[in-house]
Amino acid sequence: MESIPPELNTPTYIDVLEQFDAAADWFCLDRNIWKRLRLPQRALCVTMPIRMDNGDVHVFQGFRVQHDTSLGPTKGGVRYHPGVNLGEVAALAMNMTWKCALVGLPYGGAKGGIRCNPKNLSRRELQRLTRRYTAEILPLIGPDHDIPAPDVGTNEQVMAWMMDTYSQQRGYAVPGVVTGKPICIGGSLGREEATGRGVVYITLETLRHLGIKAEGSTAVVQGFGNVGSIAARFLISNGIKVVGVSDSTCGVYNSNGLDISALISYKKSKHTLEGYSNAEMITNEELFGLECTILVPAALSGQITEENAGRLKCRIIVEGANSPTTSGADEILRERGVFVIPDILANSGGVIVSYFEWVQDLQKYFWKEKEINERLQEVIITAFNEVLKFSISENIDMRKASMVKAIKRLADAHLARGLYP
Ligand code: GLU
Repeated sequence: MESIPPELNTPTYIDVLEQFDAAADWFCLDRNIWKRLRLPQRALCVTMPIRMDNGDVHVFQGFRVQHDTSLGPTKGGVRYHPGVNLGEVAALAMNMTWKCALVGLPYGGAKGGIRCNPKNLSRRELQRLTRRYTAEILPLIGPDHDIPAPDVGTNEQVMAWMMDTYSQQRGYAVPGVVTGKPICIGGSLGREEATGRGVVYITLETLRHLGIKAEGSTAVVQGFGNVGSIAARFLISNGIKVVGVSDSTCGVYNSNGLDISALISYKKSKHTLEGYSNAEMITNEELFGLECTILVPAALSGQITEENAGRLKCRIIVEGANSPTTSGADEILRERGVFVIPDILANSGGVIVSYFEWVQDLQKYFWKEKEINERLQEVIITAFNEVLKFSISENIDMRKASMVKAIKRLADAHLARGLYP
């Protein structure tokens, strides 16, 4: 593999690049475009001194990376997590480029992040940090430039503060600067549930393709945040039994099926799954060993590794998280015949409805929830079927088929636009 700049050289970036290289090699991508797409177009590193509630000043580090701007403004979430670093943010930005291209959105990919533990910050500290971060990345963002959204550790409240900070600088309300914001300031109906809903549309389509009935199928979900908990809820309403779920603290298991509504209420009040009494407590590693039809990793990246891929007992993996599977693990899963729906397809529901939100903001004309869900279903299922058709005709797996289709779209745009100067 060609060398990686030291500041990007992190496990997630290496994994994402390996997937890119494998797909690019497969169709002999033009070498010059290959060189361009392996690196982000812009990356901004910022430091933010924040007055904590106890009077101390803490300096936080943050990033915003724009991977490619050839198809339109850039789009992607903002992550608050202790593990955030430039390499990870750049990798996730690159993944956003492929995701948007694959489902036909007029965006390039971006990602942002702050290295912090939002669970240890008060609401006021979180607000100060968010506003200062927004002020620091202000030159990069805007409805025609780069549009942030929620990701791990952020939510609609964080988006509201970002939108307000940006709007204060402009002197008027600019709802289209972020997506995933509250409905009352220009958010979209259906956005909060969109990623989980998309995961389930994809799961049902996969079951149909493999000739497996939803009734009688079982699922295990890793991660019980916005994606995992909502996906679990929709899986159940479609007749699939969810036997195991986990969050960052522990897992719960019940072979007869878990009561997801009860777990959601429990998590809301206790902020953890620990101590939930109507199920057996298990570890995250044990969760991966559970027998099931569908495994939905919906937590952080790098969870399915060479160490655990051999003992997964699922037939299908639907990647609700970004980059949950390492390249080494992917190889093992392919050999074992596990049907993997890659992140850029499986979790694209979030950014699809973000796109709808942005369009509604720009047009100042808002749609009904039914319309939004139907359009989401149409876009995501069309993308799924196109990838499936391509994967069958070329005899490649769903990840490679998705990547090749996405990269081809980028290559066409780069070739058409040419080089400047
Ligand atoms: N953070 C989500 C993702 O990784 C959503 C991004 C967006 O809506 O812009 O796809």
